[in-house]
Amino acid sequence: MRFGITTTFTVLTVTALLIAIGCAGSAASQNENAAAAAQSTPVPAATKNASMTAGETSTAAVSDELFDGKKIVKTDADWRKQLSPEQYYVLREEGTERPYTGELNDNKEVGDYHCAACKLKLFSSKTKYDSETGWPSFYQPINKKNVTEKPEKAGDDRIEVECARCGSHLGHVFDDGPEPTGLRYCMNSLALKFEKAK
Ligand code: FE
Repeated sequence: MRFGITTTFTVLTVTALLIAIGCAGSAASQNENAAAAAQSTPVPAATKNASMTAGETSTAAVSDELFDGKKIVKTDADWRKQLSPEQYYVLREEGTERPYTGELNDNKEVGDYHCAACKLKLFSSKTKYDSETGWPSFYQPINKKNVTEKPEKAGDDRIEVECARCGSHLGHVFDDGPEPTGLRYCMNSLALKFEKAK
C-alpha cells in the first residue's frame, strides 16, 4: 500500500512537470509567433518618411563608394548655383583647364579623388602617376562602374570620361599610360575633390 502511494505520488509529480514544460514550450512558441508577426507587419510609407518634407529625397542609402545606378539629375541653374564658374565650365560644358594650373596635378598625398560635382569616389592616389602632361593622371578608376567612357564629339577620336552618377565631364582616357593597364586617365583638377586618407 505504502509502495502504491509512492508510485502514485511519483506519477503525479512527473505528470505535473510534463504539463509545466508543455506550457512553457507553448508560451515560448507564442512569443516567437508574436515576434514574427511584428517583423512581417508592413510599416506604412508615411511612417518611414515622417521626418521628411515634400520633395525631399532621402540620402541615407546613398553611397559615394560605388555607383548604384541612380543618376543625379539637376537643372543647369542648380549646377551653376552649386559650382564655381571655373568648375561649371569644365564639369558641365566639357571645358579643359590649362595644363599645370590645377592644384591636384602635383598632389602626392594618400587619399581618394571624388567627383567635384556629386562626390562619387573616382580615383585612388595608389593609381596616380606623373604623366608630365600638366593634368592629374591615373592608370585606372576606383571602379569602372563609377565612370562613363564614350567617344568625343564627331571628328574627334578622343574618349571622353564622365562621372557615371551625375554625368559631369572629367577629362579623357588615352592608351599611352603605364602598366598594368596601359591607360592614362587625364583628368581636370577642377573636376576632382581630394579627400586625404585618415
Ligand atoms: Fe559626379
